[in-house]
Amino acid sequence: MYTLINENEVMNCIKCNQKIPPKRIEILPGTKTCVNCSTASPKRGVPIMRGSGDHTWVDLEIMTQDQFEKYKELDQDQNQTKE
Ligand SMILES: [Zn+2]
Repeated sequence: MYTLINENEVMNCIKCNQKIPPKRIEILPGTKTCVNCSTASPKRGVPIMRGSGDHTWVDLEIMTQDQFEKYKELDQDQNQTKE
């Protein structure tokens, strides 16, 4: 069942059932999770090079936002040590 969101309507997070702040809905229309849950829910597909030497292939790793942030940090560290 679909209903249009208006300013007075209260949306509840589909994960924890907490009220989503109206400001958040204003910024992200159609959002279904609160701030706490949304940071854990987005999934990122990250191409990762596997193997070594002549035998390499690219794998798509599905990460949570949290894992992705850590991966980015690791990636930056590696780039820094190369230089
Ligand atoms: Zn929530």
